[in-house]
Amino acid sequence: MSYEAVIGLEVHSQLLTNSKVFCGCSTKFGAEANTQVCPVCLGMPGTLPVLNKTAVEYAVKMALATHCKVNDKSIFARKNYFYPDLPKGYQISQYNEPLTQKGYIDIQVNGAEKRIGITRIHMEEDAGKLLHGESYEDADSSFVDLNRAGVPLIEIVSEPDIRTSDEAVEYLKALRDILVYLEICDGNMEEGSFRCDANVSVRPVGQKEFGTKAELKNMNSFRFIQKAIEYEINRQIEVIEDGGKVIQETRLFDSDKGITVSMRSKEEAHDYRYFPEPDLLPLQIDETWIEEIKRTLPELPAEKRERFVKEYDIPSYDAGVLTATKELANYYEDCVKKYEGQGPAPAGFKQGAKGKGQEILPPKVVSNWIMGELLRLLKEDGKDIAQPSAFSIQPSVFVKLLNMVDAGTINLKTAKEVFEEVYKTGKNPESIVKGKGLVQVSDEGALIKVIDDMLAASPKELADYKAGKEKLFSFFIGQTMKATKGQANPQMLNKLLQERLAK
Ligand code: ADP
Ligand code: ZN
Ligand code: MG
Repeated sequence: MSYEAVIGLEVHSQLLTNSKVFCGCSTKFGAEANTQVCPVCLGMPGTLPVLNKTAVEYAVKMALATHCKVNDKSIFARKNYFYPDLPKGYQISQYNEPLTQKGYIDIQVNGAEKRIGITRIHMEEDAGKLLHGESYEDADSSFVDLNRAGVPLIEIVSEPDIRTSDEAVEYLKALRDILVYLEICDGNMEEGSFRCDANVSVRPVGQKEFGTKAELKNMNSFRFIQKAIEYEINRQIEVIEDGGKVIQETRLFDSDKGITVSMRSKEEAHDYRYFPEPDLLPLQIDETWIEEIKRTLPELPAEKRERFVKEYDIPSYDAGVLTATKELANYYEDCVKKYEGQGPAPAGFKQGAKGKGQEILPPKVVSNWIMGELLRLLKEDGKDIAQPSAFSIQPSVFVKLLNMVDAGTINLKTAKEVFEEVYKTGKNPESIVKGKGLVQVSDEGALIKVIDDMLAASPKELADYKAGKEKLFSFFIGQTMKATKGQANPQMLNKLLQERLAK
């Protein structure tokens, strides 16, 4: 029997407001423990919450970007439970009437597009953080840091539309890209500003009803989420194949062992006793404000990707890579604007078609360089182009290098080496080329001399070639390249060698 997984994800993302959602305390990450607290977020009796308008605006932005309906009225609710990181004994969240619901995003998985429904997006406050022993002098104690208590969150709940761990990861990446594009969340999984719980069940292929789900927690990277889901799918299939039943429970991912372990079953599940928050009025949002917010939305990743394909005639794959962050997309566009390459396409030109003289258009040349060289170097350094300090190659400098290739000053191989050096040292490509004597040998006379010397040194090969062993042509090319330390202009070398051998 073959099985299919059903997955629904619950994502918590921290909103990038300056102050907390119900008080004026700072939300800045990394401050000394318990220095960003006040009577409201410490849950002192007699204090009252005041809703942060910017937090609502950010939540509405996310709703609009994911095609959700923004409800004109929503209700805050108390979710009651006891835990040392929750000073009030309840979390202010939303329950029956969330801020927004019924949206979707489209994701790309292995070249195909798939739509994933979004059930709802609601607002809530974060809890504090517990620090357990180890890093402190007293290893037996736990400490409470309430700086995070009251920081605004949105919870984004997906429909159970996801079928594989790949889809789950693509969905999460797409959500995170949107949040970061909107500048409402920094998307940092390690610092916990983007967290995900995964609901996983399996069913025999063809069965309509869903199986019993387990909820997975404690995964703080895309790789762990993928691993945890895969492990869980296989575990559930095994349980069923062995004649057992999957039980509804919460399971924790153990990243050292790569497995999920039971944390609590449905019977032990919390009863949160939700009820409407009496200290906050129902939240009413008028249409004109939503329209105002809509006008501030930037071009989103999916729109940008489509535009790149249309405007620059690059493959959808390239467009996807280049629009992963706004910074990278802007960098690409800045380079394309400055780079003319070999000029406009000839009549009948088809991108990537061979044998028309010009095989790729300038925007694709730039894309190849960014994807192949720049992103490779950044990856080797563990850097992210979204960090402004990640690298310092100005678009004009980048384009200068490409122009040097087009002009025949350096060949492609040299250009890649120079690029790496520009990346590492921030030096000007022209001075690197001059300083190292890397200028391509495009001087016909000089090249003919190298070819003649090379042929004189290979009399046996030359004789074999003349006797019909034409494969030796590439041997001669290789030898000449070696003699010029890879700096011969390849087109010119090809032409001159042919002429010389035809004599
Ligand atoms: P709960 O009340 O247990 O929190 P919800 O109905 O609120 O469950 O759903 C929580 C998440 O679980 C949603 O993302 C939803 O899509 C997903 N989900 C619901 N049922 C299943 C199932 N049988 N298998 C996998 N995911 C599911
Ligand atoms: Zn406070
Ligand atoms: Mg739920």
